[in-house]
Amino acid sequence: SQETNNLLKDKLKETFGFSQFRGEQEEIIQNTLDGKNTFVIMPTGAGKSLCYQMPAIAMDGTAIVISPLIALMKNQVDQMNAFGINAQFLNSSLNKTEMNKVKTEVLNGEVKLLYIAPESLTKEDNLEFLKQAKLSFVAIDEAHCISEWGHDFRPEYRRIKSIVESLDSNLPIIALTATATPKVQQDIQKNLNMEDSTIFKSSFNRKNLYYEIRAKKDIDKQIIRYIKSNHGKAGIIYCLSRKKVEEVAELLNVNGIKALPYHAGLDGSVRMANQEAFLNEEVEVMVATIAFGMGIDKPDVRFVIHYDTPKSLEGYYQETGRAGRDGLEGNCIMFYAHEDIIKLDKFNKDKTVTERDNAKMLLNEMVSYSNLGSCRRRQLLHYFGEYFPQDCGFCDNCLKPTPKYKAEEEVALAIRA
Ligand code: ADP
Ligand code: MG
Repeated sequence: SQETNNLLKDKLKETFGFSQFRGEQEEIIQNTLDGKNTFVIMPTGAGKSLCYQMPAIAMDGTAIVISPLIALMKNQVDQMNAFGINAQFLNSSLNKTEMNKVKTEVLNGEVKLLYIAPESLTKEDNLEFLKQAKLSFVAIDEAHCISEWGHDFRPEYRRIKSIVESLDSNLPIIALTATATPKVQQDIQKNLNMEDSTIFKSSFNRKNLYYEIRAKKDIDKQIIRYIKSNHGKAGIIYCLSRKKVEEVAELLNVNGIKALPYHAGLDGSVRMANQEAFLNEEVEVMVATIAFGMGIDKPDVRFVIHYDTPKSLEGYYQETGRAGRDGLEGNCIMFYAHEDIIKLDKFNKDKTVTERDNAKMLLNEMVSYSNLGSCRRRQLLHYFGEYFPQDCGFCDNCLKPTPKYKAEEEVALAIRA
């Protein structure tokens, strides 16, 4: 009703200081408040967190938020606490005393949001504790982790549903993701047994992002020239291997460009420090593996360069999505080499047949995207099951059409590799 709508809006202003809901946030929040299951598919930066934070605040009891990364949880808990909301997390970074303190507060009904890693959720003593708590609903953030067809598959995510059932089969679930090829979407719904849920899906078009693909030739020269002509702008360069990350960061530094490496092989403290240096603009460029990015909210990243060809369009879309989150300039440049595809395909040789077929399919989509001469945005959106009525006029193929390989030739190559 109008009245509850106004109440929600007041709450938005009062708690978060925002005067408007974005997109379908309000309808999504209402759906959860009504006790229904909800499935939210919106691109990175669209404001998905608010869709569970608001109902969590408005409802009695504690909302469980399942999140794949400790850094993501910490980030959100800090934010919530800064807004004066009691949010806590339960993960392996806490010691016994801290863990007990969180549990006591939950049982006392003081905690509005409890962030929890899927691994912690499956632990027996945590389950016992959750059974005693008064819960409002369960939010599953980064829900694509459920799907083997996605790019961040986490096996523990597939156990969430049965655990939630064992807690209380009437608990509403809200699943949220920025990645949804129709296949991943179906997989999520099926696994969560949420075929009856209300789906909120917004467009994946990122108007301000310019997509370009270059042949991987003289790549180091090309990158240095690009960064120098974009002096003072923040950017991310994604590489496939840790070794490459180190090499490229070094290359940039000897060429007078301030850059730092980021990959999972670095010490946690070094990673943290490098991330901070990038967020605080002490360096221009972060050279990273895909370990860098999920949940990092730097609004003014002006370019994302893929040094190596990514292994799926989902990954590519996610990574390019870190450019221009403020709606301003965002240049996405990917270097393509067929050798990269062959290399990626080789990584899959020890996998099961199904996994290998899946990985090949994803790779072949990448090959087509990279080699076809048609509008990149249309291709990308088509891949996400969206119809984009005309050429975008804002990608390399639209702006400077050049003859491209025939996709079938490349696809055939990838399959044989
Ligand atoms: P997502 O999870 O979809 O990637 P986030 O939840 O991290 O996006 O939100 C991205 C940014 O948008 C955050 O800085 C958040 O505070 C901001 N935001 C969300 N909703 C609103 C709103 N209604 N008005 C203004 N800013 C918002
Ligand atoms: Mg998010």
